Amino acid sequence: MTNNFAVRIMLLDDEPLMLKLIGRLLENLGFTAVSPYSSGAAALVALDAPSGQPELILLDLNMPEMDGIEFVRHLVQRNYAGSLVLISGEDERMLQAASKLVQAHKIELLGHLQKPVSPEALTALLAQWRPPAPGRSRAARAAYGADTLRAAIANGELVNYYQPKVAVADGRVVGVETLVRWRHPTDGLVFPDQFIGVAEAHGLIDDLTRVVLHDALAQARDWCDAGLALRIAINVSMDNLAALDFADHVAAAAAAAGIAPVEIVLEVTESRLMADLRVPLEILTRLRLKRFRLSIDDFGTGHSSLAQLRDIPFDELKIDRSFVHGAHGDPTLRAIFDSNLHLARELGIEVVAEGIEDLADWEFLRRAGCDLTQGYFIARPMPAADLAGWIETWEARLRVEALVL
Ligand code: C2E
Ligand code: MG
Ligand code: MG
Repeated sequence: MTNNFAVRIMLLDDEPLMLKLIGRLLENLGFTAVSPYSSGAAALVALDAPSGQPELILLDLNMPEMDGIEFVRHLVQRNYAGSLVLISGEDERMLQAASKLVQAHKIELLGHLQKPVSPEALTALLAQWRPPAPGRSRAARAAYGADTLRAAIANGELVNYYQPKVAVADGRVVGVETLVRWRHPTDGLVFPDQFIGVAEAHGLIDDLTRVVLHDALAQARDWCDAGLALRIAINVSMDNLAALDFADHVAAAAAAAGIAPVEIVLEVTESRLMADLRVPLEILTRLRLKRFRLSIDDFGTGHSSLAQLRDIPFDELKIDRSFVHGAHGDPTLRAIFDSNLHLARELGIEVVAEGIEDLADWEFLRRAGCDLTQGYFIARPMPAADLAGWIETWEARLRVEALVL
């Protein structure tokens, strides 16, 4: 390792002995700009100093005054843009829960270390870390403003990517899910989690959805004309379901593109609590009457997934990827996955498993008898132009790797 001297590391642990020990280990790895703190309060003072934030924080979870979880909340409030390592003497499940929390706050988590910290474990964690060039990561993370996004929508900087959905039984490509990206003039390809929330908060989500829908339907038309019959899914925000003319707009767009509603899937995610469900309910019911397919996305992660399932006539249920990847080897995930699958079966709804990443996930779904799936194991979202070529590769893979035997 070279040039580690410049990387600023904050070390926070209430035990002086641990501070000394881990400090020594870091020094041996070539990190010399390490600042130790024995309380959250002292560390926060340092964070607020003009010298700015460190690139990495090693954080003990168990501290008497301000514990590690509370400290994370203060980091979030300060838009901490560096990386984090959690340290604790608690058991693995507790560390996993804390890790989930950190990731939910979109803080980059390098991993967690069990006490007593071994030099090998620390070295392994830091070896896979690429410290950011100073000043870079913060700029990249800065939320985009409403005006920038409004201009991007108007200037056609949003592009649709498409991820295949395949049948688990025979590997057939049944459709694609449209996933929007922002081709930013200077920042490169920006992912939806960086701007969908901004669009929702600033009244831009209707414009965004219209652009995505229009482009997706035009694309589906092209594929259809080229002999590729694919169902096309688009993501619909709950905020789109606040304007009563949404159903008419979607119906008109489908008719203009010459695509039958049964070939169009509207994936609805519940991202926040809705005080009044009457308008969304009316819009979704009208869309269903017009024979559009309704899908409940990220199932199991919302505030009221079950209530939605009760009230809205969904055709498809997407089991969230947090219950899918690795479910074969984890009894908790497995139980949640099985009960979701069973629930959908009882209701006569098609089931999609999101986020399969490896062969073990695929084989698990084949055993479980799920209908459709999508995930990096099959394909990452891709530009429209790549799809036909990808299908050829996939069909070859099905044979060569004997995926559906
Ligand atoms: P989603 O609808 O649940 O889409 C699935 C997300 O999981 C996509 O992320 C996809 O790239 C990712 N994914 C697919 N396979 C795998 C896998 O095997 N492993 C992992 N780790 N991830 C996988 P993406 O494209 O970043 O989109 C994130 C979310 O942004 C979407 O979640 C959706 O809620 C939202 N979104 C995307 N496009 C639109 C849009 O046009 N309108 C609205 N309102 N929301 C959108
Ligand atoms: Mg989706
Ligand atoms: Mg999802």
